[in-house]
Amino acid sequence: MMEFTAVATTFQGLKSAYDSVKDALQQREDREVQYLLEPLLLKILEAQEQTLSLHTSHLMLHKEKLELEKRLQEIERFELDKQDYRLIQVQQGGGAVYSFRPTGHSDKGAHWLCPSCFEAHKASILQPMAVRTSAGRTWKCSSCDHQLSTESSPMFPPPT
Ligand SMILES: [Zn+2]
Repeated sequence: MMEFTAVATTFQGLKSAYDSVKDALQQREDREVQYLLEPLLLKILEAQEQTLSLHTSHLMLHKEKLELEKRLQEIERFELDKQDYRLIQVQQGGGAVYSFRPTGHSDKGAHWLCPSCFEAHKASILQPMAVRTSAGRTWKCSSCDHQLSTESSPMFPPPT
């Protein structure tokens, strides 16, 4: 990014130099020299515009790169945590959730993950809503709005 800033500064310098020369020449009212300088100015402005455009693209790519790196980290973390979840059916007719079943010791309490988000490599905890239907309490994913109603609630399996 530094290089782009440096190039932009160079063009700014060229433009200033051009302006100084132009001012000096204007005082002499040398129309022919001014006429010759005009295309030079246009070239400088054009190059400056291209530099700024490149700079903008570069910034956007950099931002995208950071976002992708962040997403990759999330996916890597998810892949590690994934082993601690089992798909269980909590609703007659097939409504399922990913239930927390830690293989070792964990400080996390019992909870369910949204099955839609889970498939997209994202851990999103289902939250209980105040709403109750005939099928039970409604649980909602705050990420994708996936909802299901069930009489079950998150719990660890009884020790065997
Ligand atoms: Zn979801």
